Amino acid sequence: MSKFISFTYNHDQLFAESASLIEIAKEFGTPCYVYSRAALVAAYQEFNRAFAGRDHLICYAVKANSNLAILNILACLGSGFDIVSGGELQRVLKAGGDPQKIVFSGVGKNQDEMRMALTAGILCFNVESEMELLSLNQLAKEMDKIAPVSLRVNPDVDAKTHPYISTGLKENKFGIPMAEAERIYHTAAHELPHVRITGLDCHIGSQLTEIDPFIEASNKMLALLDRLEKQGICIEHLDLGGGLGISYSQESPPSIKDYVTALCNSVGQRKQRILIEPGRSLVGNTGLLLTRVEYLKHAPHRNFAIVDAAMNDLMRPALYDAYHEILPVVKKSSEVNNTYQVVGPVCETGDFLGHDRQLSLTKDDLLAVMSAGAYGMSMSSNYNTRPRAAEIMVDGHAIHLIRARETVEQLIASEKILD
Ligand SMILES: *Cc1c(COP(=O)(O)O)cnc(C)c1O
Repeated sequence: MSKFISFTYNHDQLFAESASLIEIAKEFGTPCYVYSRAALVAAYQEFNRAFAGRDHLICYAVKANSNLAILNILACLGSGFDIVSGGELQRVLKAGGDPQKIVFSGVGKNQDEMRMALTAGILCFNVESEMELLSLNQLAKEMDKIAPVSLRVNPDVDAKTHPYISTGLKENKFGIPMAEAERIYHTAAHELPHVRITGLDCHIGSQLTEIDPFIEASNKMLALLDRLEKQGICIEHLDLGGGLGISYSQESPPSIKDYVTALCNSVGQRKQRILIEPGRSLVGNTGLLLTRVEYLKHAPHRNFAIVDAAMNDLMRPALYDAYHEILPVVKKSSEVNNTYQVVGPVCETGDFLGHDRQLSLTKDDLLAVMSAGAYGMSMSSNYNTRPRAAEIMVDGHAIHLIRARETVEQLIASEKILD
């Protein structure tokens, strides 16, 4: 089965489920993100099924793609959420997410965000430092509440992924060092009456394509969990983080099923509820970025295809030198291929979507930048005063606009010239 279960060619024309991308471009313009509801539901169900009879909660990492429609579809399927800001909390609540299924991660939660989360009654705070723990205890005291906490422990394992998205090495800023975890759990249990220990958490990085680092981290967490339980500290849930990779080109990450099964096996007979925080593996291959060729430029040593999407729309190539497959929306019969640098209009040499792509192009052709469902729209910006792209969700034949294209008026509305 292709990794793009919902994006397939029919008579040489690329479709999103049963909707024509040509029609979508005509109606909503380009660039735009196009997501498949069926692909999203399928990915969630694959996770859910893999847990079989085990007590578990899938907490979708909202930062991967935070559109309300996506959050709502997942909430309706029973998903929980992993948030990293007060803004994401507001989105999840607005989308109908259950506060009792929200975990709050991040190294720098501020007072307002913590207050909002305590008021909402979230499942737990994934606390990343001793100072944060003390601060949360103090705030909960002022609010006459008890904050549920899980310590995010840094297991010091090499996720073998891009250094910018590797988070579980001891030199990274994330989590509490393993050597300090027990002491801080004791502080939480015995000295801080306004926090209640509920769990244990780790997250070692993103776009992992091997199972071993996950299991290594899980085993370290389990050893800690067993030690804590022996000391009378009760752990209700074990949160093993997110990070499962997807296939952008040649990678062959473990399947969702194999990944979940391996996690469950490592936990073995223990009774704790298992939480995971997948982002990319839920949404990455459920979306594409649709763009149009503006100009072709044949320079002496290179051919450029200048398209209307840019690094502000999809930052991953510029930020991580990430690869995204680029497909023609209409396959041409002609065999006249050129090697193109697919670039955007932004004034940066780093503004590219793909290097050295074999394509047969003419002006106004549509291209689909694949695997753009995760960390695409959510990382987009207004650099060069470019309004952010529209977002569309396809459901069978139905085409829903789930975020209108921004306007320049909206961009400058809160700016002011000196009196
Ligand atoms: C980003 C993040 C995730 C999700 O990572 P993916 O690679 O998208 O699965 C999960 N947990 C935490 C704490 C994160 O920061």
